[in-house]
Amino acid sequence: MSKLAIHPCRSLCAWQETRAEIDGLPVLACRGCGSQWIRSEGWTPIDHTGRIPDCVRAELVKRS
Ligand SMILES: [Zn+2]
Repeated sequence: MSKLAIHPCRSLCAWQETRAEIDGLPVLACRGCGSQWIRSEGWTPIDHTGRIPDCVRAELVKRS
């Protein structure tokens, strides 16, 4: 039996703002798995807690 702990991304995900921009949109990034997101993407990032982070919400309301 392996004693290695395996942490799925979901248990680490924590989204935050970055200084990067793509197509004029601010890029948010996940500290846990390294995913990146801008609001024109069709999906919505969530934190490991299962809630949508405030920085993501702030972008979602700007979607037209
Ligand atoms: Zn992640």
